[in-house]
Amino acid sequence: MRKFKAESKKLLDMMVNSIYTNKEIFLRELISNASDSLDKLYVTSLENKDNTITRGDLKIKVAVDKDARTLTISDNGIGMTAEELEKNLGTIAHSGSLDFKNSEDKDLEKVDIIGQFGVGFYSSFMVADHVEVISKAYGSDTANKWESDGVEGFTVSEAQRDERGTDVILHIREDDDDSSFDRYLNINAIRNLVKRYSDYIRYPIQGDIEKSRELPKPEDAGDDYTPQYEHYTETETFNSMIPIWTKKKSEVTDEELNEFYKDHFHDSDDPLCTISLHAEGTVSYDALLFVPKNPPVDLYSKDFKRGVALYSNNVMIMEKCEDLLPDCFGFVRGVVDSPDLNLNISRELLQHDRQLKAIEHRIEKKVKAELEKLLKDEREKYEDFFGKFGHGFKYAIYNTFGAQKSLLEDLLLFYSAKFEKPITLSEYLDNMKNDQEEIYYAYGDTVNRLSKSPNVTSALAKDFDVLLCPDNIDEFCLMSIGEYNEKKFHNVSDEALDFGSEEEKEEAKKSDEDNSALFETMKGALGDEVTKVVTSTRLTDAACCITADGPVSLGMEKYLKNFPDAQDKPEAKHILEINPKHAIFETLKNAQAADDTEKIETYAKILYDQALLAEGLDIADPAAYSEAILSLMK
Ligand code: ADP
Repeated sequence: MRKFKAESKKLLDMMVNSIYTNKEIFLRELISNASDSLDKLYVTSLENKDNTITRGDLKIKVAVDKDARTLTISDNGIGMTAEELEKNLGTIAHSGSLDFKNSEDKDLEKVDIIGQFGVGFYSSFMVADHVEVISKAYGSDTANKWESDGVEGFTVSEAQRDERGTDVILHIREDDDDSSFDRYLNINAIRNLVKRYSDYIRYPIQGDIEKSRELPKPEDAGDDYTPQYEHYTETETFNSMIPIWTKKKSEVTDEELNEFYKDHFHDSDDPLCTISLHAEGTVSYDALLFVPKNPPVDLYSKDFKRGVALYSNNVMIMEKCEDLLPDCFGFVRGVVDSPDLNLNISRELLQHDRQLKAIEHRIEKKVKAELEKLLKDEREKYEDFFGKFGHGFKYAIYNTFGAQKSLLEDLLLFYSAKFEKPITLSEYLDNMKNDQEEIYYAYGDTVNRLSKSPNVTSALAKDFDVLLCPDNIDEFCLMSIGEYNEKKFHNVSDEALDFGSEEEKEEAKKSDEDNSALFETMKGALGDEVTKVVTSTRLTDAACCITADGPVSLGMEKYLKNFPDAQDKPEAKHILEINPKHAIFETLKNAQAADDTEKIETYAKILYDQALLAEGLDIADPAAYSEAILSLMK
């Protein structure tokens, strides 16, 4: 018996116990080896001009024997000589496949060799306590057997095998407290693993599946006939073999792409858009990405796992790789396949490297471009999409403190009070008045309510458009964007925002002076609720409104109130503005002239409360408000 070198023993132990997080991965490794051996045979036969070998005959077989507790993976590939068995399987971290790939005279166009680390084979010891490899090399008359229990060493001896190729026979471990190994003796479970990890291996992977069928009912069968079944086995090809993402867009139909999407990502709807990318050069890859029509139910939950499936040479490496997409495009599904990734040794994880960054960058740009195209060409579809996913974009801008604004700001839609439909920020700019310096918005509960708020209607009366923002995140998002094309955002309920002309402002100033006693009395009645009462230059029809004095807007105040346990919630400071053109102003002035303080105080409270209601804010004492109204009606 040949001994493993001491380091090898340690390494083997490490392999079996710590490199892989997932035991089932052994099957992917062994099938990848078999596929490599078929590739090598094919390339070598072309070099040798050997026309006895046709690609169609090359295949991989898996078989289980429950009684013997064996799982066998066979191929009719290039096989190994006794020396090769010793060298390739006796030296851990020696990859015969990598040697093959690196030998200069190989025409690499034709091969997609998967192996590179020289460790995959040993993963079989995670599930097997004894492994036999019987192999007959291409062009050789004799077969040999490599055998090991993975602990002490291995033996190589002469053996019997009729055809060229290799059988890897795994003697499956008994179940223990930690793991169940019996499932590797169930051909249906094996089929599922093949589908999961090796579906796009380009050679058929076949196995015998047990089936049963009902026998025809005999003609003379009586009423008490019970159906009879016969059991038989049928050889099935487990893998679908065609990696649809490697095809150019012209080579596949929309139906095929849609079917692939629905099948793979468990969606009942066709995707909203399909993006196919093919890159060659320093980093080569194929990507097939889908924007779903509807968000998965858990999209905004903590449990949602985003990411695209990552393949390398048609073998699945990761089901959901997060690093290939920015957070804000987390709803994108799809596949990225690249032979150039720096995989780590277990091929379960990948190193965070330049290649990956480069791919992410491309994907990000492409998804954005595709959405912009939809926005431009199919507005209705985009609006529907934005209604479902747009919240995530706004949240991403806010959450990254504006870092993602250049990526996302042109994908945002806000409801225009003027056009009564969603518009982009750029469309808002296109319709701005010549002398307009800022982008106006209003923040509140619903579009309907906002559109009626005095601050909005007065802006509209002056022909300024206002973006109506009913989404909690809206104002925070706009604050994070800060400026769009050098235009700042301004809440229409901000006191500092003044639509009035110079003349109107002068008049208001004079009115404030003339009515200082009246406004003092009103302010006195309202106490700390308001910082002051003033003559408005913004109002057209409404009698009065409130504006925010300082950084906390009315909408933000409302939003913050919804947080159950926040203490010392900042509140907006309110200013009560009275419309000098409204009849109520005359009534107030008359009351002042008549020295009717009680009337002024009652009116002040009613006006303030109804201004709060018009903004969708709560009033402090609804009972007192209705009492005051009733007293007027009496
Ligand atoms: P890797 O596949 O990364 O090279 P492995 O440890 O899985 O590493 O395999 C080691 C080597 O053994 C391979 O490079 C290949 O030369 C050889 N080998 C493994 N399985 C087979 C097979 N089924 N047919 C032919 N050669 C094989």
